[in-house]
Amino acid sequence: MFKKILIANRGEIACRVIRTARRMGIATVAVYSDADSDAPHVEMADAAVRIGPPPAGQSYLVIENIVEACKTAGAEAVHPGYGFLSEQAAFARALEANGIVFIGPNPKAIEAMGDKIESKKLAQNAGVTPVPGFAGVVEDVAQAEEIASAIGYPVMIKASAGGGGRGMRIIETKEGIAEGFARAASEAQSAFGDGRVFIEKYIANPRHIEIQVLGDKHGNIIYLGERECSIQRRHQKLIEEAPSPFIDEETRRVMGEQALALARAVNYDSAGTVEFIAAQDGSFYFLEMNTRLQVEHPVTELITGIDLVEQMIGSAAGYRLTLSQTDIQIKGWAIESRILAEDPARNFLPSAGRLKTYRPPSEEKRDGVTVRIDSGVCEGSEIPIYYDSLIAKLVTHAPDRMAAIEAQARTLDSFVIDGVANNVTFLAATMEHKRFRAGKLSTGFIAEEYPHGFAPLAPQGDAAELFACIAAASDHVMNKRKRAISCQMRTARPVEFTKERSVMLGKTRHDVRLDETSEGLRVHFEGTGRTRLCISSWVPGQSVWKGTIDGETIAARLQPILNGISLAHRGFVADARVYTRREAELALLIPEKKTAGGSNFLRCPMPGLVKAILVTAGQAVRAGEVLCIIEAMKMETALCAEFDATVAKIHVQPGDSLPVDAIIMAFA
Ligand code: ADP
Repeated sequence: MFKKILIANRGEIACRVIRTARRMGIATVAVYSDADSDAPHVEMADAAVRIGPPPAGQSYLVIENIVEACKTAGAEAVHPGYGFLSEQAAFARALEANGIVFIGPNPKAIEAMGDKIESKKLAQNAGVTPVPGFAGVVEDVAQAEEIASAIGYPVMIKASAGGGGRGMRIIETKEGIAEGFARAASEAQSAFGDGRVFIEKYIANPRHIEIQVLGDKHGNIIYLGERECSIQRRHQKLIEEAPSPFIDEETRRVMGEQALALARAVNYDSAGTVEFIAAQDGSFYFLEMNTRLQVEHPVTELITGIDLVEQMIGSAAGYRLTLSQTDIQIKGWAIESRILAEDPARNFLPSAGRLKTYRPPSEEKRDGVTVRIDSGVCEGSEIPIYYDSLIAKLVTHAPDRMAAIEAQARTLDSFVIDGVANNVTFLAATMEHKRFRAGKLSTGFIAEEYPHGFAPLAPQGDAAELFACIAAASDHVMNKRKRAISCQMRTARPVEFTKERSVMLGKTRHDVRLDETSEGLRVHFEGTGRTRLCISSWVPGQSVWKGTIDGETIAARLQPILNGISLAHRGFVADARVYTRREAELALLIPEKKTAGGSNFLRCPMPGLVKAILVTAGQAVRAGEVLCIIEAMKMETALCAEFDATVAKIHVQPGDSLPVDAIIMAFA
């Protein structure tokens, strides 16, 4: 076994690999760019080597720098994590040439599967059905039109070298093919340095289902069940689960066998994933194979009890697989949510900045439920613009799907992040969503369920009373403390008392009567006549309210705002203010401050780089027309006109690096 390995990655995956290596008694070496010198993975590793300036192209992606770091630190092997160099055969070869072991598959397998066109051909030869289409490079618009009409619209144009959901365009009709072809090819060229694209059938309403495979260098290979990753935005996964609610035992076996057939065709000898796209009628097609550890690998680990990183390290060291197919048992259900620095209210655009607050709930294993949090940040960490937006992965495992969802929902309620926009509330809302709970998933879930983007809803009915209870209870604690500090009322033992209050949740008023009793705080709702018993040991300053309401355990995120608090629970959000009855009457009379409507400016929605300006000053534009292309966090985003207008002035030019909200252009 290796004595020392280097992890050629950063963030949560570097930390995750270090954890397993340490458990195996292997020393670890981290690498870091200047943007990461204080990052947790650097602190966690036994040694760390600087590999260059912040842009990945000058640090994490420079093969020579990583090889040099291995030599400096004396590492015998390298785990590449995911992204960066993980799927570059040249990297595996460079390591080999220097006598360093690549913890991953053989370079030929990486090469064969790294190219989507080649892998489609390979699949066909291995008896695995790829998505119907044309497995060849499309040369020009005319050929694209010809192929698309033959396949039948809608079609998808994809970059052969693509990954991460980029370089992919859905084309609904013949009219869209010219622009789609040009954009896909240009994005492919700029993102992957390879402009080749191909065309395949766009499968309507599909589900993304993938098989985890695991092989060794002695010709053994097994599959570890499937994962479903249908909850996506921008063709990128957001929530994953294992097993899939869509798959029965027989389909699992057929998919598993197909995955193995393909893996065997390239002598696959590490952990890898064969991705399928399944139509709602149950038919499924091969999409691509990822020759690395996937972001979502923990769900498989939790349902099989197998540490995939340990297996990868073992097989790289030449160990034989000790597991056979019949050893693989699927136990319970696991769900993973990707907690990201992105803003669901702004079309899930990435955000960056400093994590002013980062307080994840604790990991636990209790009553058959496991909560695992893989993260690579800490409070005060900067989420840099140079890399992806992953803050942490919340993974829960329970005996069944509902219990795993419930564990997600509960844990998300006490996941506190402040300083960068994040998707915690969105994830919590999804966990509560009826369709999600019913397992009626498709890759269109988010677009269909949130067609106008996501804005958290205010709680109604029962949930509203729950919010009002928490607001009243926390206000009561704060008042008691204020009085204690100013010595207004200090008693040796608690006094019994009754108070009349009005809890405002936004504009909705709940009149309550509060009775402090030896059991806890009783909150009587005059509207519904219900009385609820609220018990909590919350103290001012804590950002999660925890307690019980009528015996039910509740957690809610709580943040002070002017004259009140903001509460978030189960995807609902409300500003709560606790008033006397008279104050509440008056509060409702205060006129609302109107914000100025419609902006005359196009502003940059995230920190990024101007790639192209597609209009000129004086030009009339229609709503929906693409005005400019911004690149940020490994992604090109087209900014479109929100209304018909005339461009008055353009304030930036291609190549400019912009902060969030910078003015890009003004309209007349
Ligand atoms: P990448 O390598 O960029 O991740 P994939 O080929 O794995 O690209 O596809 C990512 C996602 O894009 C899929 O999970 C699915 O949502 C969507 N997708 C890809 N190909 C198709 C297709 N032919 N029809 C429908 N959706 C597709």
